[in-house]
Parts: sequence; structure tokens; C-alpha cells
Amino acid sequence: MSDTKNVKPAQAALVIEINEDGHLECPGCSGSGAYLHHRVVNVYSRQEDNPSQLTSVFHNGTVNVQNNARGNPSARRDGVSIRFSCELCGGGYALELAQHKGQTEMHWRELSEPEAEWLRSDLERNAF
Ligand SMILES: [Zn+2]
Repeated sequence: MSDTKNVKPAQAALVIEINEDGHLECPGCSGSGAYLHHRVVNVYSRQEDNPSQLTSVFHNGTVNVQNNARGNPSARRDGVSIRFSCELCGGGYALELAQHKGQTEMHWRELSEPEAEWLRSDLERNAF
């Protein structure tokens, strides 16, 4: 059974899809979820409309806490961004959650080529 959800119109080209094994599919190639690696997780914490917020960046067993708003998928509240690298197509994508007026939005965002390249090389350096 496939569970496909279309997301915001601006992100309609990238579909969030779970395969029959329960694996998240790559939005670039729809390849087996077995080859989609999440490498960096950003957690954004902010009180509603507060200009200051904390961003916790989890990567490779470490966490770095920053006092800035860069990259939060929510314009006014909390957010989460999980950055993936696909072993099959080499694409880089972020699965993002954004709190918005009591609702949670979820969508894929295609990463810039430099960030996708960094994730590919990070995956090679830390292959398991
Ligand atoms: Zn892919």
C-alpha cells in the first residue's frame, strides 16, 4: 500500500511517499527508501513571533546550538528540517515540518547543489 500526500502547491512537484515496506521514498528518483540517508537534523525552537530563537543542529553524534533564525521552515513558530542524501540519484532534500496556526505543514525542499554535494561527501566520509 502506498501512502502519498500532496503538499503545499509551491512544493507539489516533490511528493512525500512511503513505500509498502514503510520506507520513505526519495522525492527525486522514487528509489527504494533503503538508500535515502538522513544526515543532519535541525530543530528550530521559537515562541510565537519572537524574533529570537534557537536552532539545534544534530549531525554525526554531535549537537550545535545556534542563536539565529536561518532556515526555519516556519515563519512564526517551531520547525524541523531533516536533510537527506539519496545514494541512488545523489539528490539532496530536506523533509521539513512547520508549525503554522495550530497546524503542522510537511513538505520536501530540494537543497542547493553545494549543500547536496556536502551531504554526498559527508555520506562517503561516514559510510557505515
Ligand atoms: Zn534519489
